[in-house]
Amino acid sequence: LASRAYMDGPTVVKVGDLEIGGDTIHVMAGPCAVESKEQLLQAAQAVRNAGATILRGGAYKPRTSPYSFQGLEEEGLKLLAEAREQTGLAIVTEVMDPRTLDVVARYADILQIGARNMQNFFLLREVARAGKPVLLKRGSSATIEEWLLAAEYILAEGNRDVILCERGIRTFEEYTRNTLDLTAVSVVKHLSHLPVIVDPSHAIGKWRFVEPMARAAVAAGADGLLVEVHPKPAEALCDGPQSLTPQNFQALMQKLAGIAAVM
Ligand code: PEP
Ligand code: MN
Repeated sequence: LASRAYMDGPTVVKVGDLEIGGDTIHVMAGPCAVESKEQLLQAAQAVRNAGATILRGGAYKPRTSPYSFQGLEEEGLKLLAEAREQTGLAIVTEVMDPRTLDVVARYADILQIGARNMQNFFLLREVARAGKPVLLKRGSSATIEEWLLAAEYILAEGNRDVILCERGIRTFEEYTRNTLDLTAVSVVKHLSHLPVIVDPSHAIGKWRFVEPMARAAVAAGADGLLVEVHPKPAEALCDGPQSLTPQNFQALMQKLAGIAAVM
């Protein structure tokens, strides 16, 4: 079902009035984690003013250490809903566990499956049945074939609204957090009709390199971007080093407009 042979044209995923995989690119931006009302609303306003159409923010965070900030849970989801109300932005947020699927689906416009859960097949099936578009991140050690087969689990449940997200893979390189595999954009476009977006923030892990790789991703034909933006990156509870300031995000959006039509 994920194969290009299965469909005549590209899949366009509708999120309210937005069309992902259509003629324009969409930028999903916001903090790694929802931390407070002030932080989220500041981030939301900044990314909306710069031209993003979708607000990202984790309320349930898959942290490497159990002692790191784990997210505000439903309180965070409520803040995301409030930010949507104030800005008109759609919301994408991660669902980590079938036990919290109902509550996440009540608030989210797009359900995100994180890299760590790409092959959590039970979760994939459950999330597919929630009846919302799914953003499926590539596992950090997943081949493109494995990633497309993970998408197949969602499609096979009858949910055709799958957006793929390349977010970097593990290699021997240690200077960057992961290695951005931009070839995945072209390869996925060749093999599949599904839209594919790029997350340069998690791929690289250092804010300085987010802008050039975001531009490269759009030039390579990505249908959109997922970018971490924090009003005060130095104070972020999660992924501050890779987060853009609102000012740097605005500069990025202006440069993108020279490469592709940004919604
Ligand atoms: C995220 O986008 O918040 C995230 C945890 O990313 P990934 O699953 O790609 O590591
Ligand atoms: Mn993050």
